[in-house]
Amino acid sequence: MQRERLLKVLVVGDLGVGKTSIIKRYVHQVFSQHYRATIGVDFALKVLNWDKQTVVRLQLWDIAGQERYGNMTRVYYREAVGALVVFDMTRLSTFQAVLKWKRDLDSKVTLSDGRPVPAVLLANKCDHLSHGLCPKLPKLDNFAQDQGFLGWYETSAKDNTNIDAAITHLVKNILSAE
Ligand code: GDP
Ligand code: MG
Repeated sequence: MQRERLLKVLVVGDLGVGKTSIIKRYVHQVFSQHYRATIGVDFALKVLNWDKQTVVRLQLWDIAGQERYGNMTRVYYREAVGALVVFDMTRLSTFQAVLKWKRDLDSKVTLSDGRPVPAVLLANKCDHLSHGLCPKLPKLDNFAQDQGFLGWYETSAKDNTNIDAAITHLVKNILSAE
């Protein structure tokens, strides 16, 4: 018998870091320079044939308009089992905001057994590196570990770099924790 798992995963981070782009790339295999700012909360669904026994219905929850406050309402967080915290590696302020987002997440939702919700850190827009527009990002291994992330990835929604890898890492962790 196959089991079906519905997973609610939040995508948080400052305005313009590429949250909507990452979701569109992952779910619809497209990229555009011009996504209008999402209004309110929106989610996209991707169905994964995970293994012989398991179908994963992955809900990726986007936010918008509310990024500027650096926190979200509890309704948005309710029953989330994972999160992607995104920053734009070409804008330092968005990296500084990562801690704020992680704290907001941990203060508003936990797993049913009280542990923090697993989260992966995404350093998005890594395609800029090849154009020399920003200094090479230092390794964030220690930072990610210290702040309680499962791991971190340099991603590009534009070039489709590491988005699958990052989300697969997160889903693996969510399923293995059951
Ligand atoms: P959000 O506010 O976090 O949802 O960010 P958006 O997804 O709307 O992206 C903001 C801007 O950054 C848009 O112009 C996107 O085209 C651009 N963008 C998003 N991801 C990438 C990426 O990986 N590389 C580059 N070069 N631009 C990106
Ligand atoms: Mg958006």
